Amino acid sequence: MIKLYNTLTKEKEVFEPLDKENNIVKIYSCGLTVYNYAHIGNMRTYIFMDTLRKVLKYNGYKLKHVMNITDVGHLTSDADEGEDKMAKSAREQHKSVYEIAKMYTEAYQKDFKKLNIEDTEYLVKATDHIKDMEEYVKEIMKNGYAYETSKGVYFDTSKLKDYGRMLSNNNLEDLKAGARVDVDTEKRNPQDFALWIKAPKEHIMKWDSFMGLCYPGWHIECSAMSRKYLGDVFDIHTGGVDHIPIHHENEIAQSIGATGHIPAKTWMHVEFLLINNGKMSKSLKNVYTVSDLEKEGIEPLAYRYFNYSAHYRTKLNFTWDTIKAAQVALNRLREATKKQKNGVEKADPEKIKEYKERFLNAINDDINMPLAMAVLWDVAKEPVKSKDYYNLIMEFEKVTSLDLDKETEEQVEYDEEVASILEERKLARENKDFAKSDELRDKLKEMGYIVIDSKEGQKLKKV
Ligand code: AMP
Ligand code: ZN
Repeated sequence: MIKLYNTLTKEKEVFEPLDKENNIVKIYSCGLTVYNYAHIGNMRTYIFMDTLRKVLKYNGYKLKHVMNITDVGHLTSDADEGEDKMAKSAREQHKSVYEIAKMYTEAYQKDFKKLNIEDTEYLVKATDHIKDMEEYVKEIMKNGYAYETSKGVYFDTSKLKDYGRMLSNNNLEDLKAGARVDVDTEKRNPQDFALWIKAPKEHIMKWDSFMGLCYPGWHIECSAMSRKYLGDVFDIHTGGVDHIPIHHENEIAQSIGATGHIPAKTWMHVEFLLINNGKMSKSLKNVYTVSDLEKEGIEPLAYRYFNYSAHYRTKLNFTWDTIKAAQVALNRLREATKKQKNGVEKADPEKIKEYKERFLNAINDDINMPLAMAVLWDVAKEPVKSKDYYNLIMEFEKVTSLDLDKETEEQVEYDEEVASILEERKLARENKDFAKSDELRDKLKEMGYIVIDSKEGQKLKKV
């Protein structure tokens, strides 16, 4: 029995898929806006998404999971204002919007691979679904939930009794105050939002439609694409907590307007990753990417491990000290796993059964990964060294995905003299004095060390 917390009901509920007969779970996850490198905060949300997938599969479910790539129409402000993020990035980098989208899509996909985030069954681009969005908007209009102004089509939020309060505790006054008063006198209600926008001449991404050259509002893509691939109502919708008050409230409003239904049964939201207990921000220069971690010698999977240290519904604080500690802990866990792999004793079947139960209870209790990791550690540290425990760890790995079978590099101890030669060689390489660098390499070899140049710097092995 899996229990999942549902933002819609504010309760932990027993999960049952809608399609019980075929045992299929239908999921939609809001994907990245590909105008910039994804940061480790974004990755927290996708590591969770991947863990959720793997927990469901571990329980025997099949998945039909859609994730989108937002490559259009996401404005710099949450209200329907500001510049298109894609266009802004393209302008700043002297590239086309399509080049920008391709570049950052490829970048995040590399990061996903490094983090062992597997592909969803469907990966869909907003720009490939403009017609679906247009049809969706027309349906909302036909049902009387939207109206036209000289700027485009707006959703009439006054048609929904609970607009903006389905998932969040927004109250109408806050919503009104949040929507800028001076924007658009044609709007019927200040909190009405754009579905379909007439493109000004200078707007780059625009498509011919029933209203001339237009581009979509930024919430409509998720409604149109989730419906296209998963139907009017599906099982689970995921995203970060920042999506709750606007993006997901608006997705719900749109779906009610078009189909009469709230699109997903269970809404799951990941709390934010903090850096030094604060927000990540460009001005603080603390918007770290997976590559930034690698530059500091941190393996991407150590970041995945670090994510398991907190439940997904609590904030997680990143510091360089805690991530370094996570790397050390992951190395130790791999070493402990190896000891079990080489073990020749027989494990007690009762204990195996008990561990399995504990692990399953943890992951099925609203994806409680800190608890699941405690069980995994207990197995790894079992004093009885047995291949049976190794096999059990590998079974848990279907969920944890930490490459625990990976060989850990042996830490070579060395003295001050070797350390100073290494330092000298580092300087020589920085100055491109390769003759000197080779000479020092030979010297180290004579002393019994082989030096390997890796992207994390020089590493030593015993001859
Ligand atoms: P975006 O490309 O801005 O739509 O963000 C992609 C995903 O990352 C969304 O689901 C956001 O909610 C999520 N996200 C953004 N910042 C953070 C953060 N600091 N911690 C966790 N998730 C985040
Ligand atoms: Zn979305």
